[in-house]
Amino acid sequence: MTISSSLDRRGLMLVLSSPSGAGKSSIARNLLSSDPKLTLSVSMTTRERRPSEIDGTHYHFTDKEAFIMNRDAGQLLEWAEVHGNYYGTPFAPVQEAMEQGRDMLFDVDWQGALQMFDAARADIVSIFILPPSMAELRSRLIRRAEDSEEVIEKRLQNSITEMRHWNEYDYVVINEDLQQAVAEVKAILTAERLRRDRRVGIHSFVDELLGVS
Ligand code: 5GP
Repeated sequence: MTISSSLDRRGLMLVLSSPSGAGKSSIARNLLSSDPKLTLSVSMTTRERRPSEIDGTHYHFTDKEAFIMNRDAGQLLEWAEVHGNYYGTPFAPVQEAMEQGRDMLFDVDWQGALQMFDAARADIVSIFILPPSMAELRSRLIRRAEDSEEVIEKRLQNSITEMRHWNEYDYVVINEDLQQAVAEVKAILTAERLRRDRRVGIHSFVDELLGVS
């Protein structure tokens, strides 16, 4: 028996939510590029693709009919209407990751997060990302310059609703400085991975350590 096999643990589901423009995608990108054990859950959406986005990498872009068909066939773990578009999490990749003990990162709104809490509370670690101020949130949305003025206004309105749900999450991170926020999320992830109840293989390791047969 090697130490690595004896320390196997259950995969966890890292749920990140925030209002649009609070920097959640940048945090997610940083985590994914520095942590090979983390896989992004690629959502399905009816939103129009932004110029910088790649179909199948950032989202599975689809039309309303196909989305509804998938949803009604039970292929989504959760789904919600956000800013007038449908978003949902395909179930199959999540199931596969969990079975293989891999960790998954979910970028979902509060409605999706609540559905996930109901479905798999024990496997979920949830973090709400807040902007340092409303003025900063607005200027980040404008700086991104990938959405129209009308869309930006709609997103600012929705951000108030989103932020009212901050206290339903396990952790809260304020993204004033991106590197600091990333470090905080990494610290949460490290600690959660070390939780005793996730480390299914630790029992046999300790038994061997103590010479218990
Ligand atoms: P955006 O259009 O800016 O990419 O995302 C808008 C919002 O939809 C964000 O708050 C994001 O977290 C949320 N979102 C993205 N994918 C999903 C999903 O699969 N399910 C739910 N419920 N929300 C999602």
